[in-house]
Amino acid sequence: MAQTLERVLPFSKQLLEKAVNSGDVVIDATAGNGYDTLFLAELVGQTGHVYSFDVQEEAMTSTKAKLNEEHINHVTLIHDGHQHVLNYVKQPISAAIFNLGYLPGSDQSITTHGETTWKAVTDMLGLLKKNGIIILVIYHGHDEGKLERHYLEQCFETLDPKTTQVLTYQFINRKTAPFIVAIEKLH
Ligand code: SAH
Repeated sequence: MAQTLERVLPFSKQLLEKAVNSGDVVIDATAGNGYDTLFLAELVGQTGHVYSFDVQEEAMTSTKAKLNEEHINHVTLIHDGHQHVLNYVKQPISAAIFNLGYLPGSDQSITTHGETTWKAVTDMLGLLKKNGIIILVIYHGHDEGKLERHYLEQCFETLDPKTTQVLTYQFINRKTAPFIVAIEKLH
């Protein structure tokens, strides 16, 4: 029988499905191997658009290959850090997703960092529509991940409850497993 409590990654997809409609503009803040970009491209459809960021050439190449296989062309791949989002995205967005940490099997020194992640989150909050969401999947099993997690937790607490609501979804008896923080814009 299937587990009752949804695991972390399927839960993040459910949230995206709720927040995103066909025709929307959305962001994959960490393309990695391209799975979320592909998922978002399918959610928004031909009339929508996905902006997908990554600082690694390898991530660009594998994401491009996945999109080509599916003949998807409503995605803009951006080989730059997500903290520069406002140089590229000018329209309102309904969702953004971050998979933090490093790409498994790749260079572990190329990882996300609290300061740049938070800069990207606050800039994307400015682009976010009412009831849109920003999802962060937080990987804190490695040293930099622990620092990033603690840095971000302090930042999330500063978000005004009148304009945002912030959820964590975490199996608290699995100490190093990734968990979700989802930010919904209320106004
Ligand atoms: N930890 C996840 C995968 C995370 S992949 C897992 O185990 O499944 C994280 C991606 O973020 C990597 O491809 C990395 O190159 C990218 N990245 C790191 N810093 C970034 C930044 N500032 N902007 C955009 N992407 C970044």
